[in-house]
Order: sequence, then structure tokens, then C-alpha cells
Amino acid sequence: MKSQCDVVVIGAGAGGLASALRLAKNGKKVCVYEAMEGPGGKIGTSIFEGVEFDTGPSLLTMREHVEELFDYCGTTMEAELELVEHEPGFRYLWTDGAKFDVYPDVERTRQDVRESFGSKALDEFDAFLSYSKDIWEAALPNFVEGEAPSFGSILKLGVTKLKEVSRIDPFRSMLQGIERHISEPHLRDVMMRYATYNGSNALSAPATLNCIAWVELGLGGYGIRGGMSALPLALERVGKRLGVEFYYGHRVESIVVDSKRGVEGVKVRTPQGDTDVVRATKVVVNADVAHLKQSLLGEDVHHGMGEDLTPSMSGWTAILKARAREDRASHTVLFPERYRDEFEDIFERNRPPKTPTIYMCDQSKAHGREGWDDGTVPVFVMANAPCEPREERTQTDEYWSRYREVVTQRMREFQLMKEGEEIVWERTPTQLATQFPGSRGAIYGAASNTQTAAFKRPANRVKSIKGLYLASGSAHPGGGVPLCLLSGKVAAESALSDR
Ligand SMILES: Cc1cc2nc3c(=O)[nH]c(=O)nc-3n(C[C@H](O)[C@H](O)[C@H](O)COP(=O)(O)OP(=O)(O)OC[C@H]3O[C@@H](n4cnc5c(N)ncnc54)[C@H](O)[C@@H]3O)c2cc1C
Repeated sequence: MKSQCDVVVIGAGAGGLASALRLAKNGKKVCVYEAMEGPGGKIGTSIFEGVEFDTGPSLLTMREHVEELFDYCGTTMEAELELVEHEPGFRYLWTDGAKFDVYPDVERTRQDVRESFGSKALDEFDAFLSYSKDIWEAALPNFVEGEAPSFGSILKLGVTKLKEVSRIDPFRSMLQGIERHISEPHLRDVMMRYATYNGSNALSAPATLNCIAWVELGLGGYGIRGGMSALPLALERVGKRLGVEFYYGHRVESIVVDSKRGVEGVKVRTPQGDTDVVRATKVVVNADVAHLKQSLLGEDVHHGMGEDLTPSMSGWTAILKARAREDRASHTVLFPERYRDEFEDIFERNRPPKTPTIYMCDQSKAHGREGWDDGTVPVFVMANAPCEPREERTQTDEYWSRYREVVTQRMREFQLMKEGEEIVWERTPTQLATQFPGSRGAIYGAASNTQTAAFKRPANRVKSIKGLYLASGSAHPGGGVPLCLLSGKVAAESALSDR
């Protein structure tokens, strides 16, 4: 069977949905082909004994990009979604007994810095936040929003703008940037952890990433009522109103490319096992860029997208069926004794951390999710881990069950997992890699571990193949829900501006 669309979008993850909606809003006939049974991609869900929970993201930052997308589509975020804030948002714990709470109100957070670590630490916190804000304001227009930066585009900015760009602190590492401002060791850990918001190594990633602290602490982090999956469901709903056609359980097997004319369509495997050819002169790829290069484009197609980049870190994740507790924060983080060891283990020794940081999200608090009838609630657990090895060789179940043991042992030791509480869902980095082909289990696309990473990330328009666009965490501007929405925006704008 042959059908025809103006634009085919491969994948209904955040980037694919954002592109599809924007293109449809501009009158294009858009068909989304998604291998899974529903929208969301990594913003996924699962169910245990009738209770649904999120299996991917726990925190929404940069809400303005979600608002802007809904506004663009002729609705509002408030009409489609309810954001949730909780006090305290994050609770950081250390094995020496130290504790620090982060609140939606930065003044209240400052108070807790003073109470937990003293007034010198508060001065350091203030100085760091102002440095972080400064980086963000310089980076946002030049490296995040708009088309992918290149050395040429940065040089063309002119002297005044270049001075502004130099505020992004690109030549120090994140850790060096933190150490310059903060001497309090616990606060250093908190700031280093922001490297993991883009799956990078705080020891080598450019200090530019210190802007993430401001993005969360200053601009805010939110939950979504009913779960993070309410976001893709809302986007799908708005997309349908705009006429987007969604085909779930449809895996795209290849993109048809003519060496002169460019993209001509896609070959899709239907749930019945048939192959459909869908004609389209524009294709937006929300799948991982490595999957596009390895599988979706024929070997004879010159794509000019260069080598695969170093993936960001992965994570061992689980759902703990835990007793509801008044004193549990929305998000809890237990740091190890020496946090830098975790980055060395993952990025240098290529092994799961010996003493991992434990991250937990109580979904009943963070997202108002319902629990089970016996008074237990879903608590998401994540421990960082390396992505899968480059070769086809993947890690074994036994390898990950050893890590599961390390993580659960630590949770028990620090009373984060109590007698009778059990893990009812689990996903290893190996399983994540299988679910998202080409990703090698990376949570955030490519890591930003070098000064040149932002310049190497694939742009949203594939120059050497007419009609081919990229909208995902593995393309510009990188991973994380809001950035993927931006990726979808730039891909759609590029597709609309090309004849
Ligand atoms: C455990 C975890 C925790 C996270 N925590 C956070 C967080 O707290 N905050 C945050 O902002 N971000 C977080 N992230 C990252 C965030 O979820 C991702 O960066 C983002 O959702 C990725 O969106 P994407 O546009 O790259 O598409 P993806 O989610 O990667 O989706 C791509 C889609 O394409 C489909 N696809 C692939 N190949 C084909 C094909 N051949 N045919 C048809 N369909 C195909 C896939 O099935 C998938 O649905 C987390 C991710 C994970 C996994």
C-alpha cells in the first residue's frame, strides 16, 4: 500500500511531537510513525497491579518552552497540563548525617543553606548562583535556542557579542568552576550533580554546564499532575486537533532517498507485518541519530554526519513499592562519601559506581500519582551507570543484578528502603539500549564532556540529504525534555523554511 504525507515524523518522543505539532499548525499533512504503542518515547510508563507509574523523567525544567509550544499551537499549558510544586522539592542526604533541602522559593533554599552549612556557605551559594545565571543568559541565545552553533557562527557574532559569549566559562571544567566559588564540600556535591542532568562528567565537561544549577534552582523544577507522561499525552491530543495522524506499533525500516532529489519517503513495517511505503519529501527523525545512520539510511547514502559521539551516561532504574511517608521529599538524593569517584567509575573505568549516588522520586508527591490500595506508592529509583559498550556485546543480566544488589543494599542501609518494601519494576541500561535503538542506553544523547561537544552535536537539518531533519536528544541542542522540545522546534522551522 502506498500513502502520501507532506512530512513523516519517525518517533513520538518529545522532539518528534514538538516538530509534528508545529508543522501541522502550518498546514502540513503530518504522519507520525512510532514503533511503540503510544507517545512519549523515554517519557514512558508501566503498570504494576493496576497502578501506573513513570519510568523516565521525573523533573520538568525550563517550563517556558512547554508554554511556548502550547501557545504556538493555539492553546495554553494551563488548559492542557497542571504543573506541581512541592515543599521541599529536593532533599540531599550525606553519609556523615548532613542534610540540605531545596525549595521552589529560592529565598527558602538560601535559608536552608545557612541553617545546614553556615553563612560563609550562603555567600558562596549566592556567588555561585549569580555566576550560573550569568552563564545561562549568555549561553541560551547562542548555544541553546536557534540553529546549532558552529565555530563560524560564533566568530560572526562581532566583538560585543563575543564578549558576552565569553561569559560561558568554556575553558575550565565544571568542577573547577565550582571549586572557584564554593569551598563547602556538601554544596560542591550538589552543584556537581547538575552534570548528570545532561549525562556528562563534572570532572571534564566545560564549566558552561554550571548554568544548569540556575535553570533548576533559579528558574524552577516541576512535577506534572498525573505523571510526566501527561505531557506527551497532552501533546498528542493537541496534535490530533491540528490534524496530525499517529500510527503506533509502526516501525520505520528505512528512509527512501534519491541521491539528487533527496528524501522521497519511508518504508514502514505495520503491526500486521506488512511493509507500507509512505511518500513524503520531508522526514523528521526523532529516533537516535546513530539508529538513523546505522539502520534507516542505506549503506550507499552519503549522510555527512560524521562519527558517532560519546554517549551520555545511562542509569539503572526501578520502581520501589514503598509505604507513603509524610516526611519523604518529592526527590531524595543520597550522595556517596567521595562523589568524584562516581564520575571516574562511569567515564574513566567504564563500570557502575562502587558506591553509587541514589536518586529517588516519590511519584505520589512529585506528580500526585495514585498508589496501591494497601497505602504504598510508586517511588522511582535511579543509580547512574555507564552506557553500553561500543561493540555489539552488551552487558549480562548477572552484571546488572550485581549492581541492583549494591543499590538496594545502600538503600536499606540508609533506611530509604524499609522492611516489606519491594522493587516491582526494573530497567537496566542494556534494556534501555534495546528499547531505544542506537542510544546504547544513554539517557541524554551525546555527553558534553569536551569544550567542542556543542559544536559536534548534529544540527537539526542534515545538509547532505535534502528533506531530512533531526529532532531528538541526540541532535542539537541535546537531551532532557525541554531541550528535545527545542530540537523539534528548530527541525520544524528548518523544514518549513526549505522549499
Ligand atoms: C530514566 C530517565 C530519566 C530521565 N530524567 C529526566 C528528567 O528528570 N528531566 C528531563 O528533562 N529529562 C530526563 N530524561 C531525558 C528525557 O526523557 C529525554 O531526553 C527525552 O525524553 C528524549 O526525547 P527524544 O525527543 O530524544 O525522543 P525519545 O524519547 O528518544 O523517543 C524517540 C522515539 O522514536 C521511536 N523510534 C525510534 N526508532 C524508530 C523507528 N525506526 N520507527 C518508529 N519509531 C522509532 C522510539 O520508539 C521512541 O518513542 C530522562 C530519561 C530517562 C530514560
